[in-house]
Amino acid sequence: MTASSFDNIRIVLVNTSHPGNIGGAARAMKNMGLSRLYLVEPKEYPSEKALWRAAGAMDVLDNAVVVETLEEAIEGCGLVVGTSARERRIPWPLIDPRQCGERCWQESGQHEVALLFGREDRGLTNEELQKCQYHVHIPANPEYSSLNLATAVQVVCYELRMAHLIEKEGTPLGNVEWDVPPAKVDAMERYFEHLQQTLETLDFLSPDNPRQTMTRLRRLYHRIRPDEMELSILRGVLTATQNYIYHTDKRLAALEKDSGGEK
Ligand code: SAH
Repeated sequence: MTASSFDNIRIVLVNTSHPGNIGGAARAMKNMGLSRLYLVEPKEYPSEKALWRAAGAMDVLDNAVVVETLEEAIEGCGLVVGTSARERRIPWPLIDPRQCGERCWQESGQHEVALLFGREDRGLTNEELQKCQYHVHIPANPEYSSLNLATAVQVVCYELRMAHLIEKEGTPLGNVEWDVPPAKVDAMERYFEHLQQTLETLDFLSPDNPRQTMTRLRRLYHRIRPDEMELSILRGVLTATQNYIYHTDKRLAALEKDSGGEK
């Protein structure tokens, strides 16, 4: 094996009581791109409730491998990670979901990887946890740290997906292609001049005592980083403001002239 792949990562649910959680886990897996589900001695399975909760992830359930022992479920795996809602008596190498995602994703290029999830009421036994190289704990509210089983599967699978996306695209959402190029520095400078003139005409800025206003406005616009279209709208607003002032001044002057003539 050379390239990391979700095909080499299996999700193992041990002794699940509620079939709804099996369906929920299948859905969580498929949403994140995983498909290999192992069920160790599920209490009630197959089940309508599992199908219902799986929604569009029925294929994951159809292909689920049902086995009698944990040994069968993890056979041939080079890395086994156990999830735990609480700390156990014997300390064990403990990682968080992010580290788990990165490690499992990376190692899935070298060998088969298994992630174990425990029973709704008791989690995984110490014996089962001792088959794992790492334990992963979702750092939940310490006063109520036990997540629903399918929810825990969701969190762990989400981190696997993040690790995969970061490797593939550098960022989880890829880079958004903007529709308009960014405004260039010289256009920004022209805008700042235009803005300053307009603010002076409005008597908002005093040329003799400008204080820090223009500096702060420059910082504001640089933080926004307008594109060419946005900058042209902003300049349009300034031009409209200046035209309005010009015409208002002219009207006022004409009125004054008229009333002056009457005197
Ligand atoms: N009362 C049980 C809780 C089991 S919750 C206990 O104390 O262990 C069922 C399963 O969901 C757990 O076995 C584990 O696989 C997963 N899980 C729930 N909360 C988790 C958490 N905070 N971190 C990691 N796994 C968790």
